Amino acid sequence: MKKQYKTSSPEETKAVAAELAAQTRPGSVFALHGDLGAGKTVFAAGFARALGITEPVSSPTFTIVQEYPFEKGMFFHLDLYRIDNPDAALAFGIDEFLYAEDGISLIEWPERIHGLFPPHTVYVDIRRGESDGERVITVEQPG
Ligand code: ADP
Ligand code: MG
Repeated sequence: MKKQYKTSSPEETKAVAAELAAQTRPGSVFALHGDLGAGKTVFAAGFARALGITEPVSSPTFTIVQEYPFEKGMFFHLDLYRIDNPDAALAFGIDEFLYAEDGISLIEWPERIHGLFPPHTVYVDIRRGESDGERVITVEQPG
C-alpha cells in the first residue's frame, strides 16, 4: 500500500512520522530514502517523539547507530552514509537491526545495503517539493 503526503514545514513532517509511529510495532524496519537535507533526521525525530522518547534525536552519521529505549522496546536510528557496501554493513552487525524483534529500526541511507532488507520493510521516500519548505513523503507498506 502506497501513501503520499505533502508537508510544508519540519513540524508537519514530524506529524507524518508520528502518525506512522503510532501504528508501528516492535520488529518493524523503515528504510528512509532521501538526499542530504531532505528531512530524514527530522522524520526520525518526529517518529521518536511519538514513541515517547524525550531525548533529542540527531543524525548518527559518525556513530552509525543511536539506540533509544521506549515503553515497548528499543528505537534504533541508523545512518549508513559512511558504510561503503553491504559487506561492511554485515561486519558492522546490521542484521541485529534488520531483524530486531524487540526494536523498531529506522535507517537513513538504505541504498548502502540494497538487497539486505527483509520483506516486511516499510519504504519511506522524502523529496523536496516545489517551494523551499515543501517536501513530498511517500510511504510504501508491504503486503
Ligand atoms: P537529512 O537527514 O535528510 O539529511 P535533515 O532532517 O537533517 O536532513 O534536515 C532537513 C532540513 O530541511 C532541516 O534543516 C529542516 O529544518 C529543513 N526542512 C524544511 N522544510 C522541511 C520539511 N517540510 N520537512 C522536513 N524538513 C524540512
Ligand atoms: Mg540525516
